[in-house]
Amino acid sequence: MSWVRTPSPAPCKAPPAGGALLSARPGCVMPARLKPLIRRGPTRRAKASAPPADPRRRLLRAMDLLEANLGQPQWDGPKDALEVLVLTILSQNTNDRNALAAYQNLVRKFPAGPARPDSLPRNADGQLDKIKLRLSDAARAVAPPRWDDVASLSAGELAEIIRVAGLPASKAKSILALLHWLRDRGGYRLEEQIGKLGMEQAMAEMTRIKGIGVKTAAVTLIEAMGADLCPVDTHVHRIINRLGIVQTKAARDRTFALLRELVPAGRAYALHHNLLTFGRTVCLARRPKCDECPLARLCPSRGKG
Ligand code: SF4
Repeated sequence: MSWVRTPSPAPCKAPPAGGALLSARPGCVMPARLKPLIRRGPTRRAKASAPPADPRRRLLRAMDLLEANLGQPQWDGPKDALEVLVLTILSQNTNDRNALAAYQNLVRKFPAGPARPDSLPRNADGQLDKIKLRLSDAARAVAPPRWDDVASLSAGELAEIIRVAGLPASKAKSILALLHWLRDRGGYRLEEQIGKLGMEQAMAEMTRIKGIGVKTAAVTLIEAMGADLCPVDTHVHRIINRLGIVQTKAARDRTFALLRELVPAGRAYALHHNLLTFGRTVCLARRPKCDECPLARLCPSRGKG
């Protein structure tokens, strides 16, 4: 992936022989004679290029830079909300490929119709492209199973089928609780239930089911129905905290609530997907690639990974 790099900071001057040194940033040394200037505070030019202290302005600048480098992903239309939600449950604590494999096991066991042509993103070796793969693509590419048959399985039987996704017992219980909740309301059309309840109430109802958290419900709403939300997964939470836009440490749901206040209308979908790509390629959990990061000038965590 090619990134447009922001200009590198001006190189430090070499210190005078034998002079005392003042560290200004990691890896940078300045002559002590510059110290009085620094004490007087930043110059007007330095102020102009300093990262905005206001979290909303900092977020907007980060969004602009991400879109300049990664484009503006657009929602690609309605999908079966139940498929998206089950795939999202399966993806918890594992990667999208394992989630998809578990879902395909379910479909093979209870096929509801003919297989759809494979439209999943693949790399040059024919393997699933883990950077480009989105669970919503899978919801389009794989026909759903016969939900009535899945709903009548025991938790143990379902766990065996989805074992490849990990945490099979708890995921099986969550999926069955969801299917029974829908069956009690007359069918497996989750989008109809969401339409009847409204987005906020639907979020509240879905998150009452054990194993469906705020992120899982929000992913379903944006991918299946185009809701203007930025779900907060591990990548989004890590990057937004590293950029100093929020300081929520372990509280992902708090990050989600704050982003709902900060993100301008109509831009949450692109932000979510750009942060996923950025977190998988540059701002990695371990050893982020700060030297090639287009957000480095904004980032108080630069070089601290
Ligand atoms: S500078 Fe480093 S820590 Fe900050 S956003 Fe970029 S990659 Fe992440």
